[in-house]
Amino acid sequence: MSDSAHEVIIIGGGIAGLFCALKLSPRPATVVTAAPIGEGASSAWAQGGIAAAVAGGDTPEAHARDTIAVGAGLVDETLARAMTREAPERVRDLLAYGVPFDKDLEGRLAVGREAAHSARRIVHVRGDLAGRAIMNALAAAVRNTPSIRVLEGHVAEDLITDGARVTGVLVRATGGPKAESTTLTACAVVLASGGVGHLYAVTTNPREASGTGLAIAARAGAVLADTEFVQFHPTAIAIGRDPAPLASEAMRGEGAILVNGDGERFMAKIHPQGDLAPRDVVARAAFAEIVAGRGAFLDARAAIGKEFPEHFPTAYASCMAGGIDPTRALIPIAPAAHYHMGGVSTDGHGRTSLDGLWAVGEVASTGVHGANRLASNSLLEAVVFGAHAAEDISGLAPQMAVPSKLPSLPLFHAAENPDVTAPHADELRALMSRHVGVTRDSRGLAAALATIARVEREAPSPPRRNMATAALLIAAAALARRESRGSHARADYPRTDPAQARRTFLTLADARRIAADAVPIHAE
Ligand SMILES: Cc1cc2nc3c(=O)[nH]c(=O)nc-3n(C[C@H](O)[C@H](O)[C@H](O)COP(=O)(O)OP(=O)(O)OC[C@H]3O[C@@H](n4cnc5c(N)ncnc54)[C@H](O)[C@@H]3O)c2cc1C
Repeated sequence: MSDSAHEVIIIGGGIAGLFCALKLSPRPATVVTAAPIGEGASSAWAQGGIAAAVAGGDTPEAHARDTIAVGAGLVDETLARAMTREAPERVRDLLAYGVPFDKDLEGRLAVGREAAHSARRIVHVRGDLAGRAIMNALAAAVRNTPSIRVLEGHVAEDLITDGARVTGVLVRATGGPKAESTTLTACAVVLASGGVGHLYAVTTNPREASGTGLAIAARAGAVLADTEFVQFHPTAIAIGRDPAPLASEAMRGEGAILVNGDGERFMAKIHPQGDLAPRDVVARAAFAEIVAGRGAFLDARAAIGKEFPEHFPTAYASCMAGGIDPTRALIPIAPAAHYHMGGVSTDGHGRTSLDGLWAVGEVASTGVHGANRLASNSLLEAVVFGAHAAEDISGLAPQMAVPSKLPSLPLFHAAENPDVTAPHADELRALMSRHVGVTRDSRGLAAALATIARVEREAPSPPRRNMATAALLIAAAALARRESRGSHARADYPRTDPAQARRTFLTLADARRIAADAVPIHAE
């Protein structure tokens, strides 16, 4: 067996991939990442922070209860409890890696509150800079860990299997379809490639979040879970930027209000909590206003006014760059694809249904989020299950001797042409927003599946084909779930059906069957 066959390959350099690599150390690991570390990752853009019951009076059990309540009947309660129990320990790990979480005058972690949390439990960094600070600290720790090699500017295009287990990854240097591809053999492959937001025309995610991980795992035969559940953030700033900048929920927390183009406060008649209703409810209401042609806006003039630049510097800069002064004008908003609750199905060790393949972070579906994610639980899930996967892989040590030397691959290979990792896929992205977005129905989903099949067939490059395959997995599960639950809203099945209170598990073959059955009934 060659030395490289003893290697652990991690696909993705966000919080999940880097944390897993650090926890594997001193076992050698190679992190393969499309964009340079710290870029092209949702992790670096996280604003709120990470949820953990670290404050006096709060408990992991209360945190678990909130997580389960938001998940609309589909949360894996055992894993959710394990996650909330471990949260304080993982926050201590992050502190040890150098993350400068905010503290109070007595040196205790400062905690903020977010929607649907029953206690203040969000640890944060200088207001809205948690993601950037976490990534800076982890990247520095990784670069100071000799057992970790980082291969930047390389896109994983396929998993290699020997029929029984995953044995490696096919990667291509960014530089287009003609760029060289390399097969990396591995004893363990950890998928940590993030979410799917960029499959949608309107998203808060970086373009690397295009669902590759789902596609390559599914093609290798892995079981996927809950792929229909995509969370839409209700208030992305609609100034034509891709990805769209966020107007965080904290603005509504400070009294900013939602209005339509006629100046009507449309949330008042929809939910008792009005503008502070749950995220999915607000997203659907804003979407309805936009579809009806009235538009949706955030009015921060009276409640925040002149404090805006100081309280929300990132959003202020985004608005001003788009020609909108939020101290004087309404901010146009639109719901944007933000987070994927579904993904590659894993157990509590991060193991997928395929031997040799683990999945961690947003690409995984552990079941802790159910049909909807509680705010600031995703960074937490990434570190908790990133650590579990590392422990599980290390536990297989006898069969996987540590290599005597790392195989000869370039260290810190820099991305030369990151553009090719984001193939232009305007047709697919528009289709996903239109038919597989905030609200769905069988006619639109069937039409979407027909077009996706064509896009997949005609895809000019592996990245584009992977996007279409990921889109298929989401749209097929969305068609199969004939009810509305959590983030999944069906206009033709508006009620939640207790008989469907179970998680979705499907393979690529299942998705293709659903698509094939749908197409003859509803033409494209
Ligand atoms: C604007 C915004 C704000 C958010 N705020 C919060 C918050 O406050 N709290 C919270 O808990 N969550 C928040 N989230 C969600 C959270 O940031 C993500 O769920 C989490 O960071 C995902 O981490 P990850 O490591 O799984 O993926 P990512 O951080 O997205 O990293 C994925 C990595 O995989 C690489 N990659 C992708 N495809 C390939 C490929 N084919 N080959 C090689 N590499 C590949 C990417 O380049 C990247 O390095 C927010 C998300 C966004 C977009």
